[in-house]
Amino acid sequence: MRKTIIAGNWKMNHTGAEVRETLSALIGYVADKGMPEVIVAPVFPYLGEAVSLAKETGVRIAAQNMHWKDSGAYTGEVSPAMLVDVGVSHVILGHSERRTYFNETDGTVNLKVKAALAHGLMPVLCCGETLEQRERGSATAVIEAQIATALDGINREEIDRIIVAYEPVWAIGTGKTAGVAEAQEACSAIRRKIAGLYGKDLAAAVSVLYGGSVKAENIAALTSAPDIDGGLVGGASLKADDFAAIIQHAVIK
Ligand code: PEP
Repeated sequence: MRKTIIAGNWKMNHTGAEVRETLSALIGYVADKGMPEVIVAPVFPYLGEAVSLAKETGVRIAAQNMHWKDSGAYTGEVSPAMLVDVGVSHVILGHSERRTYFNETDGTVNLKVKAALAHGLMPVLCCGETLEQRERGSATAVIEAQIATALDGINREEIDRIIVAYEPVWAIGTGKTAGVAEAQEACSAIRRKIAGLYGKDLAAAVSVLYGGSVKAENIAALTSAPDIDGGLVGGASLKADDFAAIIQHAVIK
């Protein structure tokens, strides 16, 4: 059965000392068994150090982005091979901030998902509608289209190596959380879409996370919903004790 996962996206925050301090404290909190899988995504310069700190602990280290090519004249980019080389296991792809500020499209997200899988990295594939799209009534259609394009060319053997994160753009960093019913409906639409592409059994094995102003107070209700398998957490993952409280309150079904 699929895993419950709590992932922290540190975005462009935390210098080296803060990474060490926050990660070390977090590792102390998640020593217990029977907890969700925990993933933390620091910025590129500290990934190697984070991997060393988290070695043989319950915390996995993710990158926040990558290019799809192995190497080449792509100034400022980092390749999947380089992430594997430093020991990263996961990579967040298609985050709405990447789509909004760095022109990422469903097409480039698809190239990245394929490259991550080819290198043995587990993508945390983000999707989600804007407020305007929700108000227009097209949220489900937008999410389904994002998923269909991002997964184009991904085969049946690969789909259970992908984590999907539903992150309504209007809920990210705004303090507004989607209601549990709204989040469940979107996560269930994602699973139905994956089932349409790969069949019900494979879709049942994919962890679908909710992201958007997750905190200790709302994670239990969110993860009690049948299709929400954890959270992708931004702001509230920056402090170890806040993030630990989210991990501890997540419901493992
Ligand atoms: C995110 O950036 O993935 C996110 C969900 O941020 P926040 O928790 O701060 O809304």
